[in-house]
Amino acid sequence: MLDGKLLIAGKWNACDRKFESLNPATGEVLGKACLAGVEEVTEAVKEAKLAQKGWKKTDILERARIFTRIGDELLKRSQVISNLITMEMGRPLFESNIEVRKTSEMVKYFANEGKKLLEGDEIPINPHNFSYTRFEPVGVVGIIKPWNYPLLLPFWAIAPSLIAGNTVVFKPSDLTPFVGIEIGKICQDAGIPDGVINIVTGDGFTGKSLVSSDIDMISFTGSLDTGKNIMKNSADKLHRISLELGGSDAFIVFKDAHIEEAINGAVWGRFMNCGQVCISPKRIFVEDDIADSFIEEFVNKTRELIIGNGLDPCTDIGPMVSKEQREKLELQVEDALRKGVIVKCGGKRPQSLQNGYFYEPAVLTGVTPEMSVMNEEVFGPVAVISVFKNMDEAIALANKTRYGLGASVWTKNLDTAMNMSSQLECGMVWVNEICTLHPQCSWGGIKHSGMGKDLSRYGIREFVNIKNVNINLGTEQSRSWWFPYGKYG
Ligand code: NAD
Repeated sequence: MLDGKLLIAGKWNACDRKFESLNPATGEVLGKACLAGVEEVTEAVKEAKLAQKGWKKTDILERARIFTRIGDELLKRSQVISNLITMEMGRPLFESNIEVRKTSEMVKYFANEGKKLLEGDEIPINPHNFSYTRFEPVGVVGIIKPWNYPLLLPFWAIAPSLIAGNTVVFKPSDLTPFVGIEIGKICQDAGIPDGVINIVTGDGFTGKSLVSSDIDMISFTGSLDTGKNIMKNSADKLHRISLELGGSDAFIVFKDAHIEEAINGAVWGRFMNCGQVCISPKRIFVEDDIADSFIEEFVNKTRELIIGNGLDPCTDIGPMVSKEQREKLELQVEDALRKGVIVKCGGKRPQSLQNGYFYEPAVLTGVTPEMSVMNEEVFGPVAVISVFKNMDEAIALANKTRYGLGASVWTKNLDTAMNMSSQLECGMVWVNEICTLHPQCSWGGIKHSGMGKDLSRYGIREFVNIKNVNINLGTEQSRSWWFPYGKYG
């Protein structure tokens, strides 16, 4: 059984209050982690503030070099970390391996490019007067992240914020505390100095304590409701916030698309990670001429997916992360059933897998706008397919949501692709692609999907204050617009 401690100022501290981390495939207890309260969070923030004084003065290239080592270390420990991810949140080992590789790639991107991305501008004003911008660290960044990518999402914030000269207090999800603890061990082993990264495991109250602490910024990824709470609780302190929230992404297939590829992409995008992905295609829209054959083939491919323990290499779909997440999904499907939806396949707990939180991937058609599967985020293996007649209708349907994270468009026509991309109300559009990410490309939503960006040059600049410096090297005694005004009288 794993025993979790808190990482504060470079030391792993034991604690009295603990909570259990369960393996969602078996329901067994994987370990017990510390439930940090106000006292521990305050201590961690205090130590991070102290450490920041020295850390911000280190050469950015030295900070970057540590992250190159972290990138290497992630790959070296890939098997151990992937196993831990799968055991703690359930997804197939193959997907956990991809998460580790993608994390290493992203960390190295910021290690290689960080210095260049934080170079300020020089602005000549006139012969005696010039100006330049400096990007300075914000201070201590509180990082609060979810369980669905428990390694990748924390490092999205840890790497750019530390390279920029901030220090960090990180609170992992209460469902994946041990992946969070592993992050601390990797950072220490790669040479991050004491106090530069601190880890406080715990629940929503721990997160709330971090938001109310003497922090300078909160970088949050998670649900809309928690994001709103964080925004409210940040108002008094007026610290900076970056919010990456939920989504209900549209997947729009035109009849001129490569249909087989679109079906394969839709099935993978909707059901990988058991449908628990922010940018998963949660509403699929298909042009009417091809709708029947698309749906038939989509259902056939869904039926072929193998459900089981993520540690089995044959498994395509693992369990959902928790009892609560499965119950929430079941309520959404029940609501749709009451309102007349057609269940083409799945949509129930599999008979053969009684332990753990498994759910048979479902395909729903005949949906209407008032069903919760259409107007709430559906965070589980349920595909919802509707039909559209033309481009205008596709745009109207896709934008009919309070969310605005991403969208995916399938067509061979560049004009259609560009037209759709400009009219979709969201932060990211993929054309003939689904659920991909590149560290060079910005990430983040609009509307109720949040504010601020991750990854890319825009992501690292979330973690800095922009300072403008204006220097006058002229010799005038005064300026024409200074006192006394009477001189021009
Ligand atoms: P969640 O909001 O329940 O929890 C996220 C984190 O917030 C956890 O660490 C939790 O302990 C903490 N928390 C809970 N209450 C808090 C409070 N009052 N104050 C501070 N912290 C608090 O979300 P989740 O279930 O862990 O994650 C799933 C959600 O995350 C989905 O909505 C998904 O779409 C979203 N998500 C978004 C992105 C993105 O890039 N936009 C990426 C991944 C996941």
